[in-house]
Amino acid sequence: MADDTTFQNYIGGQWVDAQSGETFESRNPARTSDLVGHFPLSGGADVEAAVAAAKAAFETWRLVPAPKRGEILKRVGDLLTERKNEIAFEMTREMGKPHFETKGDVQEAIDTAYYAMTMGRQLFGHTVPSEMNNKFNMTVRRPIGVCGLITAWNFPVAVPTWKMFPAILSGNTVVFKPSEDAPHSGMLLVKVMEDAGVPPGVVNLVQGAGATGQAIVEHDDVAAISFTGSSETGAALAQQAAADHKRVSLEMGGKNPAIVMEDADLDLAMEGLIWGAYGTTGQRCTATSRLIVHEDVHDELVERVIAKAKELRLGYGNDAGVDVGPLINQKALDKVAGYMDVAREDGASIALGGAAATGDGLDDGFFFQPTLFTNVTRDMRVAREEIFGPVLSVIKVSSFDEAIDVANDVKYGLSSAVYTRDIARAFQALRDIDAGITYINGPTIGAEAHMSFGGVKATGNGHREGGWEVYDFYTETKTCYIDFSGGLQRAQIDNYDD
Ligand code: NAD
Repeated sequence: MADDTTFQNYIGGQWVDAQSGETFESRNPARTSDLVGHFPLSGGADVEAAVAAAKAAFETWRLVPAPKRGEILKRVGDLLTERKNEIAFEMTREMGKPHFETKGDVQEAIDTAYYAMTMGRQLFGHTVPSEMNNKFNMTVRRPIGVCGLITAWNFPVAVPTWKMFPAILSGNTVVFKPSEDAPHSGMLLVKVMEDAGVPPGVVNLVQGAGATGQAIVEHDDVAAISFTGSSETGAALAQQAAADHKRVSLEMGGKNPAIVMEDADLDLAMEGLIWGAYGTTGQRCTATSRLIVHEDVHDELVERVIAKAKELRLGYGNDAGVDVGPLINQKALDKVAGYMDVAREDGASIALGGAAATGDGLDDGFFFQPTLFTNVTRDMRVAREEIFGPVLSVIKVSSFDEAIDVANDVKYGLSSAVYTRDIARAFQALRDIDAGITYINGPTIGAEAHMSFGGVKATGNGHREGGWEVYDFYTETKTCYIDFSGGLQRAQIDNYDD
């Protein structure tokens, strides 16, 4: 790092400026006069250097035994634990969610590191019986090569680690581009990697925006891309990568439903809705953005959610007692505010909030009031589009089948929740909701690092992050036949008599 407010890329084990010398700023979204820093606006030449460093490092890193690679990830986990508070403080300052949430973000990275360490001793292949005598069949996992990691800003430490840790544990090397809205958090993660002893070139950092990401996607020596961001960006990126035959993992947007039935524990549901809809200011891919509620409990539940939401304290997330931070930037504030007009035009009612939040420490930030729309029908835009703000749309239904039908009637399919005491309904939901994740009697948010994470339809492309499943993305399977018969054994021919 050049000084306290000027930060650099990390390429081949060196901290360097963008070759063009250009930079961009990151500012505190709760107090925009607070400059977090200047970061390199990287271009094609910087990406070229980072990919070359990663390609060179791959030749030695892939030969390090996986349990040894795991030992480095143990050190990464230990260092993240030591720096948890400090990283969380800086993350809150940069992207706005309260300190208790950013500590959770770092904890998820720690869990991911320790899980990756254990996977160093478990990168299993299979042994499979052969059709023939005196022959062994087995599969082994091989790394893919240089992986490009492109991420969003809302989980600026945890989500990059979902990609970086399994990628390098599997023997790959990476070029990481954090979001332009959270470059400092990404840099702090890479500093941990350096300090933990990850060899030069294994992890490379290039800061920048869309064009920088595009240069990574287009580079011939990048074998795989793992992307987290909007469905629009993901679709464009996947087209480019497909033309170059690159492997791509896409984790994208959501419009996550919470179904609350008439037999539910309404206190539990209310708490889950507050956390799911307004936690992280609604800026989670898994945020609860639709409440699908049975007509018998609609009025009571809406009343309780509104009463509780009114108690939420907005502010700068490093101040004590703050529940909800700002939106990430002016563009996000304008987008969320625009949906108030959309809701009115479509005939929904704004039962809570509906405007930017001002006054008492809020005027220098991108704050929006926790908002709740009632009289929403499934065809309205506020019931179908990802708003990515503290906004909950309430849709009334009269049966469980209708609730599931409404839940599935959007293009996204990431997370979902069902509140019921009826075990049959719970299992029906697990079977029938089109989503990668379903919670029973819990909010739509709350991923655990050792569980697979991902969505269906416009949310994902079939790959998963987290859990052991992510290791399928970062490894190639090689099929191995070992014939020790000493003769030619022709498969499907010599082992059949007819
Ligand atoms: P975004 O799509 O604008 O940007 C994501 C990343 O892609 C950024 O690093 C950006 O610089 C980069 N990028 C932009 N254009 C690119 C291009 N043409 N080629 C390559 N890279 C490019 O998304 P965002 O606003 O940062 O994040 C919000 C979105 O992310 C929401 O839709 C949210 O649901 C989604 N998200 C999904 C998950 C998940 O796991 N499913 C997790 C977090 C966020």
